[in-house]
Amino acid sequence: MLTAGTTSVSRRLLGRLRDVMAGGGSAQERLDKVVTLIAADMVAEVCSCYVMRAGEVLELFSTEGLRHDAVHQTRLRVGEGLVGDIAAHARPLALADAQAHPNFAYRPETGEEIFHSLMGVPIIRGARVVGVLVVQNRTMRHYTDEEIETLETVAMVLAELVASGELVDRSELVQVDGNALLPLRLEGIRLNGGVGIGIAVLHNPRITIHRLVAEDPDVELERLKTALSGIKTALEELFSRPEMRDGEHRDVLETYRMFTEDKGWINRISEAIRTGLTAEAAVQKVHDDMRARMNQITDPYLRERLHDFEDIANRLLQFLASGEDAVAKAELPADGILIARTMGPMDLFDYDPTRLRGLVLEEGSPTMHVAIVARALDIPVVGRCKDVLDKIEPLDPVIVDGDNGQVFVRPTDDIRDIFVESTYQRQQRAAQYAMLRDVPAVTKDGIQVRLMMNAGLLLDMQHLHESGADGIGLYRTELPFMARSALPDVGVQTALYTKILDQAEGKPVVFRTLDVGGDKILPYWNPNEEDNPALGWRSIRITLDRPAVLRAQLRALLRAAAGREARIMFPMIAEVAELAQARAILDIEIARERRLGHPLPETIKVGTMMEVPALAFQLDALLPLVDFISIGSNDLTQFLFAVDRNNPRICDRYDPLSPAMLNFLRWVAGRCAEAGVAMSVCGEMAGRPLEAMALIGLGVRILSVASPSVGPVKAMIRSLNVEGVAAYLGGLLTSPAHSLRDKLKDYALDHGVVL
Ligand code: PEP
Ligand code: MG
Repeated sequence: MLTAGTTSVSRRLLGRLRDVMAGGGSAQERLDKVVTLIAADMVAEVCSCYVMRAGEVLELFSTEGLRHDAVHQTRLRVGEGLVGDIAAHARPLALADAQAHPNFAYRPETGEEIFHSLMGVPIIRGARVVGVLVVQNRTMRHYTDEEIETLETVAMVLAELVASGELVDRSELVQVDGNALLPLRLEGIRLNGGVGIGIAVLHNPRITIHRLVAEDPDVELERLKTALSGIKTALEELFSRPEMRDGEHRDVLETYRMFTEDKGWINRISEAIRTGLTAEAAVQKVHDDMRARMNQITDPYLRERLHDFEDIANRLLQFLASGEDAVAKAELPADGILIARTMGPMDLFDYDPTRLRGLVLEEGSPTMHVAIVARALDIPVVGRCKDVLDKIEPLDPVIVDGDNGQVFVRPTDDIRDIFVESTYQRQQRAAQYAMLRDVPAVTKDGIQVRLMMNAGLLLDMQHLHESGADGIGLYRTELPFMARSALPDVGVQTALYTKILDQAEGKPVVFRTLDVGGDKILPYWNPNEEDNPALGWRSIRITLDRPAVLRAQLRALLRAAAGREARIMFPMIAEVAELAQARAILDIEIARERRLGHPLPETIKVGTMMEVPALAFQLDALLPLVDFISIGSNDLTQFLFAVDRNNPRICDRYDPLSPAMLNFLRWVAGRCAEAGVAMSVCGEMAGRPLEAMALIGLGVRILSVASPSVGPVKAMIRSLNVEGVAAYLGGLLTSPAHSLRDKLKDYALDHGVVL
C-alpha cells in the first residue's frame, strides 16, 4: 500500500511531468527536462534515462548528474551492468551499495564512481523493455518500495515518449528482421491441426492511451468499477448463449469469471490509480508489469493463469477507451487469420467462426484454454511462434499450417499454390472418407477390424457418428478434470459420463480412469516437483494412493451406465497386484451402490492399459482377471526404449515399427487371442495407416484412433490382405534392423495398400 505522503509526492511529480509533456520543444528537450524534474523531486543527485536502440543496446539518452558528454556515447548491452540487468529481467533494482553488486559495470566516461546507491526501473512498452530509468545518490541510500513505485509510474509516462518515435526511429523499437516485407516461414508448435489460408488480423490491436494523468482518483476508481461490471455483464451474456449450455469450454469460462473478481489484481490497479494515473493507465501499468514478468516465468500453469488476467486487462482497456465491450464487435475479413500474443478463452467467441481460418499465437501450450476452444471450433492453431507480432503486419497474407506447426507470412505464389492444392486434396479425401463412413472396416480377405475412436472432450462425441467409428476405444477422463478449477464431484462426473453415453447412442465407450501426473497436470493439485515425472507419481499410482478420488469416479461411472454397459479401464498398471487393488475398489463400489438401491449397469467390463512392459511378463495371472487389454503405445514406446516421449531431441530416436516393438506386440496379441481376451491398440501408432497395417499383420483386431484417422485407417484396411502382410512380417521379425518402416512401405506400395 502506498502511504498518503508518497501518493501526494508522486501525484505532484506526475502533474509536473504532464506539463512538460504537453509543453513545446523537441522530444530530447522534453526528456532532459523530465530527468531534471525527477532528480529534484526524488532528491537524487543523478537521474538518467537509457533508451533501447537496435541490436539490444541501451544508450544513455539524457542525464542529470552524470557527465553530459557521455550522453549518446555510453552504451550497454542488455544484461551488461546494472542498467542492462534491469532491462534483461524487466524488473526494478534498488541497491544501497551498487558497486558491490556483481553486475556493476564501471563506465569511466560517466563519472559515476562517486555514486554509491542506485535505483532503476525498466521502461516498458507492451511486453518490451524500451529503456531504463535510473536515479543515483552519493550516500548509501536505502530506497523504499514507495519510491520504486513512483519511479515505475514515471517510467510509464516516459514509455509513451520513447514509443512516439521522436527520440529514436520507431523501426528501432520494433525488432524487424531488416527484411520484413519478404516472405517468411515461422516455426511454432501444433496446437490444432489443419491448414488455414487468409489475411492477418491482429487481435487486440493496442489501445493508445491519450490521458495518463488523472485529475481526480475517485472518478477514475468509479470508471474502473463501471468497466469491471461491464465485462461481467458481457460474460453473463456469453453464458446465456445456447452453445455455452455445457461442455468443457463452459468450465473454462467459469474459471475465467473468477479472475474478474480477483481482489489482489483489482487492488493493484486501484493503487496505481491512487498514485495519480487514469484508470486506463493504471490497468496498462499492472498489465505491462505482468507481461514483462511473465517472460521470466517458466511454469506453464502459472503462465496460463496470467494470460487469463491479461485477457481481462485487455478487455478493460477496450472498455475504458470506448465505454463498451468493444471487442464484441470485432470485424473479420471473409478469411481472417488471427494473430495474437496470447488469447483468453472468451476471445474466440468474439469473432464470427465462419470467417476465421486460423490462429497464430506467440505463446501457448496444447492444454491452454483457448486451444481447447479452438479445437471445438475446428480452427487450425499454431502456438509458440516467436515474435510473430513483430513479423506480421495487418492484412499480410498468411498460411497457418497447424499440422506441422508452421506459419508462412506473405508466401510466394508457389507456396500458396501448394497449400491451395493440398487443401483441395484434403477436402477431396475428406469427402471420400465420408463415403466410407457406413461401410465396414473389413479387409480384402474378409477379416473384420473394430475401428474405434479416442475421445477426451464432450465436443469429440460429435465425431463418433460423423466418422462412423464403432465406438470409443479410449475416453481420456482426465481432460475434463484439467479444464476445471476444482476436482469435480460425483454429481458433476455422473452428469458428464451420462451425456457421453447418451451421445454414443449405444456404441461402446471405454472410460479410462483418471490418468494424471507426468505431463498432465491438474491446476488444483500441486504434487511435489519430480525429477522424472513420466516415471513418477502418476496415473493409477495416484488414484490408488488417494482412493477417494478413484471411488468417486467409479461411482459416477457406475451411475452413468445404470441399465447399460459399463466399460472401465485402469491406466499405467505395472503389475497384477495393482489391477487387483483397483478392481477391489470397484467391487466395493458396486456392492455399495447395490446396498443403496441404485440401479447398476447391465454388464460391467473391466480392462487394463498395457503401457508398462513389466505387465507383459505377468500375462498368466493377468488375463483371467480382465475382459480386455488396450496397448498404450505412446507410453509403452517410452518405457520399452527408455526414451522420453516429450523430449523432441530423442522422442523419434526409436521407431515403433522396430523389430523389438513389433515382437512385443505380436507376443501380447497372441496370448490375448489364446485366452479370448479382447486386445486393442489405442496409442497414436494405431492411427497411422502404415503402423495400423503392421498391427493387423501381427494379429491386432481392434484399433482406437483419433477421429481424423478413422477414414484413412479404414481406407487402408479395406485395401489390405491380412494373410499376405502377416506372412511378410513373420519373415522380418528376427531382423537386426533399426526399423522395418521402409520395408513395410514398399510392401504396401507393391500390394496396393492405400496409405
Ligand atoms: C498411451 O500411452 O499410448 C495412451 C493412450 O495414453 P496417453 O497418451 O493418454 O498417455
Ligand atoms: Mg499413457
